[in-house]
Amino acid sequence: MNILIAGFQHETNTFAPTRADWAAFLRGDSFPAYAEGPAMLERFTGSSLPAGGFIAEAQARGWQLLPSCWAGATPSAQVTRDAFERIAGTVVEAARSALAGPGLDAIYLDLHGAAVAEHVDDAEGELLARLRALVGPEMPIVASLDLHANVTQQMLELADALVAYRTYPHVDTEATGRLAAQLLERRLARGAREPVAARRIPFLIPINAGCTMIEPAGAVYRQLPGLDVRHATIASVAMGFPAADFPECGPMVWAYGDAAQAVVDTLYTDICEPAARWRVATWTPDDAVAQAIELAGPAARPVVIADTQDNPGAGADSNTTGMLHALLRAGAGQRFPQQVALGLLYDPESAAAAHAAGRGARLRLALGRSVPTWSGQWSDPPVEAECTVRALHEGGIVLQGPMMTGVRVRLGPCACLDVDGVLVVVASGKKQMLDRALYRCVGIEPEQMKILVNKSSVHFRADFAPIAHEILVARAPGPMSADPSDLPWTRLAASTSPRVPD
Ligand SMILES: [Zn+2]
Repeated sequence: MNILIAGFQHETNTFAPTRADWAAFLRGDSFPAYAEGPAMLERFTGSSLPAGGFIAEAQARGWQLLPSCWAGATPSAQVTRDAFERIAGTVVEAARSALAGPGLDAIYLDLHGAAVAEHVDDAEGELLARLRALVGPEMPIVASLDLHANVTQQMLELADALVAYRTYPHVDTEATGRLAAQLLERRLARGAREPVAARRIPFLIPINAGCTMIEPAGAVYRQLPGLDVRHATIASVAMGFPAADFPECGPMVWAYGDAAQAVVDTLYTDICEPAARWRVATWTPDDAVAQAIELAGPAARPVVIADTQDNPGAGADSNTTGMLHALLRAGAGQRFPQQVALGLLYDPESAAAAHAAGRGARLRLALGRSVPTWSGQWSDPPVEAECTVRALHEGGIVLQGPMMTGVRVRLGPCACLDVDGVLVVVASGKKQMLDRALYRCVGIEPEQMKILVNKSSVHFRADFAPIAHEILVARAPGPMSADPSDLPWTRLAASTSPRVPD
């Protein structure tokens, strides 16, 4: 068995300010950097990403893997035409040379499922179409997907099987790669495609509501393994990524197996009735800070505020200042000196200035950026303030939390800046605040804080919920909308409501 393996991961927020060019894929940032051929296989063997799970299962079955490339970039606006064509070209070329050389029996793709390129709405569907045109209708093609995939009709038709993560925070990435290998094995054993059933959920689900550590998402996903065992299916629920303005943006339920339709109908009903459960309570920045100050006084553990609309895991640049302004307006740093922390603020200039000035220095800085948002308004202005440099770090950090355990990220020069008693972690690279190690690197012990403001929507919960007294979701102006119905949609299907129905 010769199996081509390739990866392409991008979550596209078409309302966001910055595109993903080839350099972004070469860097990877929050993903591993671009890798090709044997180097790719080496990097992903033993990795917690889906490709790592698939490789382990392939090795256990004695399948021969033919590595193509693995390309991932931090969520942002569209993938440039140049980047997409390079990646798709490399994957298709690898399939072509496998057909001409050692032979090719199947293809596995480690995909996100919500990529939009400058010239193609359904980037994964386009990649599948090019591969299918080359290898013909009989070659098995399976792919693993992110829980936030916007699964299209084209993807379902062109792939033999697709399977999505079942957790958000995504702590089952490796397990999903293993499920993809199971789907391939089932497909091979049957000698033909398994029956597939699919239904699109007729409304967009806010990103914060998709968290599987809370309800209703937790209950929806918890029943999947049991349903699969009872019906001999492999079913998936993709929440969709509700910030990609194209007709097939939205959640999808699908399953493979002889009883696929019954399983899909069960899941569909479970999600849609009643739909109103998927609404999320959010706070204005000032209300969130006031509430956090009140709760934090007597609390033994920190109150965590999610700065969800500046989440760099959803296309934002992690550089807005709405929450920092609110903390300073409320005097949070005077109420709890050096016990209020915010991170990560992507601000390479301030980090460089802090490194140049040295630890203990005081300097005047303009922290953060004002960025355009979907509302037509710009986000808050930079925070101009006297800062004390409390700590410096070179930015090589090994993550310790349940997501991406053991992964080493490279954020470039980082600093802890004290602004009126509020500790701000500035970084030279973009990374969602999903791991306590990202505070510890500059000497902040998150467990000792009264208030933490995390630039993240949901992923932070994996490592921070265990230490949080309470979690509040705040909507400071930024590129990622907490409520999809706020966005100026122009191309969403008429059958998909951007608002959770009553
Ligand atoms: Zn995701």
